Amino acid sequence: MRILVVEDDDRVARGLVRALLRAGHRVVRAADVAEAYEAIAEQVPDLALVDMGLPDGHGSAVVRRLRDHPATGVLIVTAQDGETDRVVGLRAGADDYVVKPFSLAELLARIEAVSRRTRALREAPAPVVHRRGSLELDTTARTLSDTDDGWSVALTATESAVLALLLTHDGPVERGVILDRVWSAPSEARSRTLDTHMATLRGKVEGRLRIRTLRGVGYQAGP
Ligand code: CA
Repeated sequence: MRILVVEDDDRVARGLVRALLRAGHRVVRAADVAEAYEAIAEQVPDLALVDMGLPDGHGSAVVRRLRDHPATGVLIVTAQDGETDRVVGLRAGADDYVVKPFSLAELLARIEAVSRRTRALREAPAPVVHRRGSLELDTTARTLSDTDDGWSVALTATESAVLALLLTHDGPVERGVILDRVWSAPSEARSRTLDTHMATLRGKVEGRLRIRTLRGVGYQAGP
């Protein structure tokens, strides 16, 4: 895969680039927001690893720019105490995050999980559409639209995958099933990530689709 590493710390960036090259990826490094924009304009990466604290701006600006390219996976990198950064980054459209300091094994596992979700978009352009009433979820374009009035909203890969699960089940979908199907590696931390994604997803579909929380069970889309 072609991976864009956006990291201002030279020492950290060198280590990341070396590790990713060794894992067989092609790597481009950008040291700030401006360089990241240039790199994206030159060639859209398959996946980007974006540090949130950059010298000329917040990493979430890079995340938002990358969201113009639905087939690109976005993994943000935050500090241990960077909960705000994580929330801002995920809201900007990141698919997942890693917290510094992370192990190489953890990073590669996260990259693998995110790329599994985006690979389908890169390799199979045929749209997959799920319908509920007048709502249409296109998991290729990652948009939810209402055929009644043309309303439409852009979703991240993760939001799209979660919503597809909800729309293909008439009844509730268990949290464990969502974690398993969307993240492939359920854990306490992923469980909190699901809460964040669910909150942004609810915000985006508000007034169009109700996503109910069934305590101790899971989630259900619909009335
Ligand atoms: Ca930094």
